[in-house]
Amino acid sequence: MRSVSVFGVTGSIGESTYDLLLRQGGSEAFRIVALSGGRNVARLAEMARTLRAEVAVTAFDTCLPALREALAGSGVKAAAGPAALLEAADHPADWVMSAIVGAAGLAPGFRALRHGATLALANKESLVTAGPLLLAEAARHGARILPVDSEHSAVFQALVGEEMSAVERIIITASGGALRDWPLERLAHATVSDASQHPNWAMGQRITIDSASLFNKAMEVIETREFFGVDPVQIEVLVHPESMVHALVGYKDGALMAHLGAPDMRHAIGYALNWPRRAPLPVARLDLAKLGQLTFRAPDEARFPALRLAREVMEAGGLAGAVFNAAKEAALDGFIAGRIGFLRMAALVEEVLSQMSSRQRLGNAALSLDNVLGIDGETRVVARGLIDTGRI
Ligand code: NAD
Ligand code: MG
Repeated sequence: MRSVSVFGVTGSIGESTYDLLLRQGGSEAFRIVALSGGRNVARLAEMARTLRAEVAVTAFDTCLPALREALAGSGVKAAAGPAALLEAADHPADWVMSAIVGAAGLAPGFRALRHGATLALANKESLVTAGPLLLAEAARHGARILPVDSEHSAVFQALVGEEMSAVERIIITASGGALRDWPLERLAHATVSDASQHPNWAMGQRITIDSASLFNKAMEVIETREFFGVDPVQIEVLVHPESMVHALVGYKDGALMAHLGAPDMRHAIGYALNWPRRAPLPVARLDLAKLGQLTFRAPDEARFPALRLAREVMEAGGLAGAVFNAAKEAALDGFIAGRIGFLRMAALVEEVLSQMSSRQRLGNAALSLDNVLGIDGETRVVARGLIDTGRI
């Protein structure tokens, strides 16, 4: 029986993973080792009971009493806090879903690789902040990382049976997010609610706002570079408002292999869950005749500077990805809290990147988990300082 852990099971990716695990037989088909969540302990306990998990972990110590109470009599162990998350990742599982949002997802996924798990990686922050470390850890322990981000799953699928040396370019698509047609003057006044309405995908609030600012796509460009090992100049972004084509791989003979599917994350999650085989999935089938047409256009970097920043980060290398991610997370916190405007997020990230790189040579710094987590903390302090003093 395959053993499975899901980190971030109460989130948007987590719920979809839970849905697929149930549809594929639940506790009859899988031995569920660990499930983790945040403050939503009632939902976490319900999922842990249904799947007969061995342990349920809330990220927050203060939530432990409520989790214990919700699990009373179930036989599921309750635990809390970052150390408990790592401990849960130390319980070996064959397949581990990494679906915590933000840099908090890095350490548990990293730890699971040590035990040779197949890591289904939704947490793109892991690759942006520590890509080379993560891949080296996987190689060291004979573990495998499977992409879960829809674009990267699409690229992965379009590469089946091909040689990487035949790849000329990788094109990832972007819906353009909630504000894709807004003029610059209006973007300055976009509210949290405006930025939280994704046209095609139902996702967590943070990634939805990152889609509107194109920071999500910027993160995905870096993720593409790290995961597939291609040169930054080989990666292109194409705005495709319908979100039906998720990515394309261009080969040196001029062929483009596209991956199409309905915008439903259960496709990419289900592919990773059943890989290397395919299993029937409960996703809508595309009726291309009914759709009639699909449209594409170039991204507008004047309105959305995130993509330019991603290229600078890739050029710098080293710890620049960790700084970029932490600055972006702090900017997003500031925007959600109503402390900075929509366009100030990119301005803040750019300023923080420039201040941090003048303090130390980010590109040359040794990449270790400690260094990544250390600079993550430092960067957030600098970013919050700029917000607090109104300099952004
Ligand atoms: P979400 O906000 O819906 O869920 C996040 C999960 O992480 C929840 O279970 C929450 O309890 C947990 N969590 C939050 N803060 C935590 C902390 N500090 N420590 C431990 N756990 C914590 O997020 P989501 O939209 O499901 O996204 C999860 C990850 O997947 C992100 O990295 C995101 O970029 C990536 N992703 C999401 C989608 C999508 O469709 N939602 C698509 C592609 C990639
Ligand atoms: Mg994506």
